[in-house]
Amino acid sequence: MTSLLRVDGLVADHGLLHAVRDLSLSVEEGEVLALVGANGAGKSTLLRTLAGAHPASGGTIHFDGADITGVPAHRRVGLGLALVPEGRKLFPEMTVEENLMVAGRRARPGQWNLSTVLDAFPMLVPIRRKRAENLSGGQQQAVSIGRALMTNPRLLLIDEVSLGLSPVAVDMVYESLSALITAGATLVLVEQDLRRALSVADRVVCMLEGRVVLQSPTSAVTRDQVTQAYFGLSRTPSVPADRPLPERT
Ligand code: ATP
Repeated sequence: MTSLLRVDGLVADHGLLHAVRDLSLSVEEGEVLALVGANGAGKSTLLRTLAGAHPASGGTIHFDGADITGVPAHRRVGLGLALVPEGRKLFPEMTVEENLMVAGRRARPGQWNLSTVLDAFPMLVPIRRKRAENLSGGQQQAVSIGRALMTNPRLLLIDEVSLGLSPVAVDMVYESLSALITAGATLVLVEQDLRRALSVADRVVCMLEGRVVLQSPTSAVTRDQVTQAYFGLSRTPSVPADRPLPERT
């Protein structure tokens, strides 16, 4: 079976710094992958490189079997890859509805439009005519995810889902994400909150210094094991999705 996303030996640099080093992973259709790692591990650079917002210096990215490594960002959106960037990056002077509609102009055919996005994010309904600059962090994050959905993605990459949000806002955003997941969305989530990440994801990938140091089905790994990999305390070997990690002694 062809993976929806396959990354082989990917390298992405900031000047002389290798932010992503020889990284390989795949994402299957309908899968939810949590991408975790400490600050500076390379998660944002990886997502931006997958979305075409940052150039790859080496390796390949295949989407639905096609090599998209050199394909520009706007064409990746057309193929079904959407990024919810760190910091949300909304148009501040536009209303919620306008921010959503702008993204809809590049939409692939599919289930998502203004009405279905507002159904998925009911918190946006009463504020649909409010300017983005006047929204709370949680509301902005919901608009940002909704905006990506408007393109009808086959794979949604979400950077820093809950960063800077109040606990109530995080709950609301995750409620909507859970509904998307139940509906079969394919997601890669960058999330600092390990508990949250592990509670929604099928698989967890932990990065350290640009590399994957742990890769496992969430059901086969403990939070402790992920935390250790996160801080580089143990280099737990990556395991294939169908093989559980050995029991810890
Ligand atoms: P964070 O959670 O802090 O966003 P991250 O895991 O997403 O961390 P990246 O933001 O991808 O990591 O950063 C990876 C490395 O690249 C870090 O060492 C960071 O300092 C560096 N880096 C990121 N963006 C730039 C940039 N625009 N210019 C130079 N170096 C950068």
